[in-house]
Parts: sequence; structure tokens; C-alpha cells
Amino acid sequence: MAIDPTQPYDDDNIFARILRGEVPASKVYEDDWALAFHDVAPQAKLHILVIPKGRYVSWDDFSATASAEEITGFIRAVGHVAREHDLVEDGYRLLANVGAHGGQEVPHLHVHLFGGQPLGRMIA
Ligand code: 5GP
Repeated sequence: MAIDPTQPYDDDNIFARILRGEVPASKVYEDDWALAFHDVAPQAKLHILVIPKGRYVSWDDFSATASAEEITGFIRAVGHVAREHDLVEDGYRLLANVGAHGGQEVPHLHVHLFGGQPLGRMIA
């Protein structure tokens, strides 16, 4: 079920539990600002989720309230993961679902990184 991005942060959401090490995840990268791991239900040959370590529900509160350091650290981590997986030459796709119309299900900001195959053109 899609989430309401204006709701308070839920410390029991599945990605918070992965960050705390309470739920296992196939991690591919971690630094002070971000954690990246394989999506449990991949929708492309490579499907990685990158999440900030801070308590942000969605792109909305992150973009409005995160510090410049957090935003920079998170965006750098996304780019780092793409480069580490040799995705730059062939290209890849980033996607952040926000709220009901965006179809967001997990209430902790995450960017989907898809790659490893032609993804087709998507505008909606
Ligand atoms: P959303 O629709 O919120 O943008 O995407 C949430 C994503 O999280 C989905 O692609 C889903 O497969 C993934 N996901 C949900 N629960 C887990 C989990 O426990 N572990 C991992 N690795 N991915 C999960």
C-alpha cells in the first residue's frame, strides 16, 4: 500500500530495520551517509536501492530539511554505486517514488537504481 509522505518517520519501517542490522540485506555499499543493497524483488538485471542514513520519509522531507552535507553525501553515494557497478558507459536509471501517486511503499527515502540491460524509454 502506498504511503503518505507527510506522515512522521516510522522507526519500525523495513529500511530502518535494515539500517540497524535487524533485518538482513545484500549490501553493496555503505558510508557515513548512505547504504545501498539489492532489492529483494529485482525488476531489472541489476536493481539496487540506495537509502540515506538519516530519518527521512521521502524525497519531500529530505529535500526540504536535510543538511547540505547529507544531501551531498547521499547523491555522491548513488553515483559511486553506479560507477562501482560499471554502469556509466551503458547507462542506467534512477527512480524515487513519492507518496500515493508515486506508488511509494516503504516510508524511508530510497532511490531505485536499475541497470545491466536496456531499460527502454520511460516518461511516465
Ligand atoms: P517503493 O515502491 O517504496 O519505491 O519500493 C520499495 C522497494 O523495496 C520495492 O522494490 C521492494 O521490492 C523493496 N523491498 C521491500 N522490502 C524489502 C526488504 O526487506 N529487503 C529489500 N532488499 N528490499 C525490499
